[in-house]
Amino acid sequence: MNPMACTQNETMWQKISNGEFRSMVESLTDQQAADLSAAYGTLNYKPLPVNIIRGQNARVWDQSGKEYIDCIGSYSATAHGHLNHAIVNALKEQLENVAVVSRAFNNAEVGLFLHGLAEFCGLDRVCPMNTGAEAIETCIKLARKWGYTVKGVPADQAEIIVFEENFHGRTTTIVGFSSEPGYKAHFGPFTPGFKIIPFGDVEALKAAITPNTVAILAEPIQAEGGIICPPKGWMTQVRELCDAENVLLIWDEIQVGFYRTGTKFTFMHEENAVPDLLAVGKALGGGILPVSAAVGKDHVMKMFQPGDHGSTFGGNPLGAAVALAALAEFETGDYSTRVTELGEKVIAKLKAANLPAIKEIRGMGLLIGIEVHESVDSYAMSHALVERGILTKETRKRTFRLTPPLTIEEDLLMEAIDRVIDAIKAVS
Ligand SMILES: *Cc1c(COP(=O)(O)O)cnc(C)c1O
Repeated sequence: MNPMACTQNETMWQKISNGEFRSMVESLTDQQAADLSAAYGTLNYKPLPVNIIRGQNARVWDQSGKEYIDCIGSYSATAHGHLNHAIVNALKEQLENVAVVSRAFNNAEVGLFLHGLAEFCGLDRVCPMNTGAEAIETCIKLARKWGYTVKGVPADQAEIIVFEENFHGRTTTIVGFSSEPGYKAHFGPFTPGFKIIPFGDVEALKAAITPNTVAILAEPIQAEGGIICPPKGWMTQVRELCDAENVLLIWDEIQVGFYRTGTKFTFMHEENAVPDLLAVGKALGGGILPVSAAVGKDHVMKMFQPGDHGSTFGGNPLGAAVALAALAEFETGDYSTRVTELGEKVIAKLKAANLPAIKEIRGMGLLIGIEVHESVDSYAMSHALVERGILTKETRKRTFRLTPPLTIEEDLLMEAIDRVIDAIKAVS
């Protein structure tokens, strides 16, 4: 090893153990920070040239002190804003007690969390995990076991129906049933047992169900897919079809749940669309920790016996305390009215600007997508936004998303929209 690198490393460890981590962070220039990730990280992300080292509600700052408005909200994970006071206080208090114990023992925090989340969702039981992908994997395992042991599907024949343009995470099983070539190329072989059909099409769904179908797994609105809303009534029709055919309904509300679209969960926009299993994550961690879960009805959740499934960190007391504080914020605030009204104002303002570069504006609540025409250079557009202090990124179908913290101040949000309009004008 090069002796120089060794000395630098000693300095680095010494500084960190001396409690100087924060001064290291603040003394790196924005460029140095970017260079470190590029040099030592895998290259699976292509970040915009912004180095965020501080955040407060919907504002974030880089090392040079430039302020940005966070219009992506960590893909819904910072729904409560950056460093929400009540959630930070819950975190600090928990840190004076215990943080991680594993599920080998009982723990009051996890008990309160399971009860709280089940009640919040209006469902019976919770299997706590950390990331969204793990919550989906949990739902897949529960649905398959139900299929074999309750429905009577022959061994290894269970089918789960999923939808084109879905996004459910990045494990090998999950990317195996993605329709996005970039997510799966060179990662096979993939897990069998998934059937991909068009989103929002009841007839295609009817035709796809067989006696071996155990579940339908869908996002109520496809967020990563480009903020694609299904036709009105589709969620209810899916529920009715599941009842008629003895198939489980799994809604993935990891991104669109927790008031993102104005209702507590997006399936609640329709009558009788309650799932058997609900995957939640992102905002559940209060913008602080990864906390996810599969939540569901007793008849499916009871499938798991000791040893069937688990996660070392799933349900840890620190995550439990933070998630409960995040849920308490939702239960005691008026998120529904606020998010619905702000969403309507944003859409009205964008439409009033009458920009020819915009092909379509889609969404509900604070899950809004602006699809730009082919002629607009989306890379230039991302940069024009960054230059104007707006942080967001396009998703598929050339759609720029506006998914800020749900707690964003109204005047700041309107200021952000003015800047977005200005950026669109500048690149078109
Ligand atoms: C983000 C997301 C996931 C995956 O969550 P991770 O925490 O990144 O594993 C799954 N489904 C949907 C709809 C998502 O938006």
